[in-house]
Amino acid sequence: MKDIFLVDNPDDYLTLVNKSYKLSKEYIPSDLELIDERYSDGNKYLRKKAKIAFEKMACDIMKIGLKIIAVSTYRSYEYQGSLFNSYVLDKGYGYADMCSAKAGCSEHQLGLAVDIANESLDYDNFDKTKEFDWVCDNCYKYGFILRYPKDKSDITGYKYEPWHYRYIDDIGIAKYIYDNNLTLEEYLSNLKR
Ligand SMILES: [Zn+2]
Repeated sequence: MKDIFLVDNPDDYLTLVNKSYKLSKEYIPSDLELIDERYSDGNKYLRKKAKIAFEKMACDIMKIGLKIIAVSTYRSYEYQGSLFNSYVLDKGYGYADMCSAKAGCSEHQLGLAVDIANESLDYDNFDKTKEFDWVCDNCYKYGFILRYPKDKSDITGYKYEPWHYRYIDDIGIAKYIYDNNLTLEEYLSNLKR
């Protein structure tokens, strides 16, 4: 069993949350805001800066005739727990652990993660869309990174998730991560060296 550490800087935009670093049950971001309903499937919240950046990205992609929708954003500790349990019941523990996070271990609790789909709302197939190609190459300009890239499962602990983007606020760092095909884990551990 790997050690699990409690995150002590949950409000930082570069905070790492994964299977080794978890958020407390009490952590709820203080600046959650409702995303414009034109860009979500309803009642979706992100932290203020992430919300503004996401709406800007969603507005800009419309200028080239494409559309993105936030289908999952902030999730509470309790909701994440029930989501994980439903995956376990449905598909078994091993599968659940590769594609869903336990309570406290999801970036969605930070209010900085957004699952994106196009108008079909079929996020599972997002990587087969034109919207994905654009978001992949442009999201860093808004401070987002693709959080669970292909062939990085051994580092992130999750299978490839073309729909899941993480707001990190700093456009320079987001570009560096994009240019060098890094994960947040790799970027942060390079800093420590
Ligand atoms: Zn997600």
